Amino acid sequence: MKFALVTGGSRGIGHAVCIALARDGYAVIINYAKNSQAAEETRNMIVSEGGNAMLLPFNVACKEEVDKALDLWESEHSGEYISVLVNNAGIREDNLMIFMQDEQWDKVLGTNLFGFFYVTRRILKNMLTKRNGRIINITSLSGLTGMPGQTNYSASKAGLIGATRSLAIEVAPRKVTVNCVAPGFIETDMTRDINQEEHKGRIPAGRFGKPWEVAAAVSFFASDSASYITGQVLSVNGGLHT
Ligand code: NAP
Repeated sequence: MKFALVTGGSRGIGHAVCIALARDGYAVIINYAKNSQAAEETRNMIVSEGGNAMLLPFNVACKEEVDKALDLWESEHSGEYISVLVNNAGIREDNLMIFMQDEQWDKVLGTNLFGFFYVTRRILKNMLTKRNGRIINITSLSGLTGMPGQTNYSASKAGLIGATRSLAIEVAPRKVTVNCVAPGFIETDMTRDINQEEHKGRIPAGRFGKPWEVAAAVSFFASDSASYITGQVLSVNGGLHT
């Protein structure tokens, strides 16, 4: 069985990625922070389609929780390893820099960037030993351009792109690829407070994207067809690049 871990797999883009990877034949490990009901719904959807999925809650921003949960998973799956990792868990806490609180900075960097580090470092060893792995990081248009009120979020997402490029070079000889998917405006809980009517005029496609449209890009990076692509950022943004 091939295993894929999706952080933040309970809702939104992560939920769609879990469904897509299950359809690709992976047994999906659904991580989430708090929302066990949504995570169970994701698992039930996969199981109802004949797929395989399990829940693994932990806070990606807490390295002790990350290590504990993954130690437990490994002890229960002796001889198995996770060959696809999707670092998707993310939050926003927007504020103008002048009003930005320490907690807003720390929480966003902690989840979006430190979370990537804690989870990836823990999973990477087995990928390198097995000489097989796919790491897909969900960054953002905000990490490529700037967005007012998002210095914390943009820093975390730009950091993810830099880390992706360096790690891709480190691990390419071991047949592990590392890529980013950079969504623009996607319809999820994260963008619920954003007025679509106000923003969609800026988007060449004239609409917000759907979570499955991001999941399709993740599925491609995870596939055998993408074996020679690494260190890349694929935008899924309806043509909105600025
Ligand atoms: P969402 O609907 O708010 O879902 C966030 C997911 O992340 C949930 O599953 C949540 O788990 C999980 N999560 C949050 N903090 C966590 C933590 N500390 N540990 C583990 N899991 C945690 O967000 P989304 O819109 O799908 O966003 C997914 C990713 O895409 C994020 O990295 C986001 O920055 C990125 N992105 C989104 C958009 C967009 O327009 N939506 C655009 C660009 C990039 P619970 O359910 O347990 O809370």
